[in-house]
Amino acid sequence: MDFEFTPEQTAIRKHMREFAEREIAPVAAKNDRDCKFDWDIAKKIFAEGFLGCPVPEKYGGLGLDYIAYGLMTEEVNRICSSTRTLFSVQTSLVALTILKWGTEEQKKYYLPKMCVGEFIGCYGLTEPEAGSDAANQQTMAVKDGNDYLLSGQKVWISCGSIATHALVFATVDKSLGHKGIACFIVDTKSKGFTARPIKGKLGLRASDTSELFLDEVRVPKENLLGQVGEGFKIAMSALDNGRFSVAAGAIGLVQGCIDESTKYAMQRKTFGVPIGEHQQVQAMIADMVAECEAGRLLYLRAAHLKNKGVRNTLETSIAKLFCGEAANRAAHNAVQIFGGYGYSDEYPVERYFRDAKVLNIYEGTREIQRLIIAQDALGIRYANGQQTGRPTALATVGV
Ligand SMILES: Cc1cc2nc3c(=O)[nH]c(=O)nc-3n(C[C@H](O)[C@H](O)[C@H](O)COP(=O)(O)OP(=O)(O)OC[C@H]3O[C@@H](n4cnc5c(N)ncnc54)[C@H](O)[C@@H]3O)c2cc1C
Repeated sequence: MDFEFTPEQTAIRKHMREFAEREIAPVAAKNDRDCKFDWDIAKKIFAEGFLGCPVPEKYGGLGLDYIAYGLMTEEVNRICSSTRTLFSVQTSLVALTILKWGTEEQKKYYLPKMCVGEFIGCYGLTEPEAGSDAANQQTMAVKDGNDYLLSGQKVWISCGSIATHALVFATVDKSLGHKGIACFIVDTKSKGFTARPIKGKLGLRASDTSELFLDEVRVPKENLLGQVGEGFKIAMSALDNGRFSVAAGAIGLVQGCIDESTKYAMQRKTFGVPIGEHQQVQAMIADMVAECEAGRLLYLRAAHLKNKGVRNTLETSIAKLFCGEAANRAAHNAVQIFGGYGYSDEYPVERYFRDAKVLNIYEGTREIQRLIIAQDALGIRYANGQQTGRPTALATVGV
């Protein structure tokens, strides 16, 4: 087992950290307050090619590995969760899904444009009646000659109003259950497609989250991703990548809490000493640091498996669950360390606190992750399709 990063991984992490501190940190609080998706920041991210980090160079990406991608995602989220959402959606949920399931033609057409933000993607799985129960898709795809007509509604779709293309999951026959689902790449300019931003979110206020409405949207059969009937499998494989970026992002949020809290704890004095000298404050910081280190190892293990092309649904779920929970605990403690000042948006920990909650809601709630992990442990359903053995860390390295 090698705990060292390569020079390339270290360099991209440093580059991303400097970018985030220079370009995002000065405006993150204001964008959050104004509920503004910041196109200026997005354009700078596009120009750097960051969104193509794990996409092979032959499709316009940076051709870096998943460890580099995880570190990059962590660094963005250390400063701003809303900006990290762009990576989770564009890179993990959409580009990597087209990379895995697309035809050569689709890959050549969509990926180079997605890597530089000329195309922006969104991932349309959730519906009013299909959240955790994602197979219960009500959006219908009706064959019409060489096309499909898509009708239905999606809800809580990140980047839904800014996307040029949406991955839309729809069923050709509800009676077939998850085997009737197909995935389509839908041009959001198509007739019958509308998006409506959701207002009043608890967190992620500088990211776009929308409802999508499809009224007989005509989609040519060339825009099918994979085969009819493979849609559910495609949706779940996309989540293996999406959850990975959420886990890495969550550790970025924990790191942000540590950085802010340690700085404040050595400045703020009570009873004549910095609060960092009080043992109860130290305990909160120690918990944050320990969970940050543990969570980082978990997402990096998932990254290692992805690099090897090994199925990693279980390891990614474990990372997503642990890191999401760690982020919530860290944000809770960070606000506590700041006392009354943590309750105001004068300091970023208030934003981290609000942004943390979604980490155990989207891309499979924490309960759904626990279901996946427990069913695997109990032998009810193996998350990676087969028994990986216990403990999983040993199984990973082939012991
Ligand atoms: C800001 C934001 C952005 C999002 N972005 C996207 C996106 O880009 N694309 C997309 O498709 N979706 C997106 N989502 C949707 C998100 O994935 C769903 O909200 C999530 O999967 C939960 O579905 P639900 O809201 O319908 O809750 P429900 O499924 O109704 O769950 C409600 C509660 O019941 C629990 N529960 C449900 N079933 C079980 C069970 N079997 N066992 C135990 N507990 C259970 C859940 O854990 C939860 O606590 C986003 C959501 C948010 C808030």
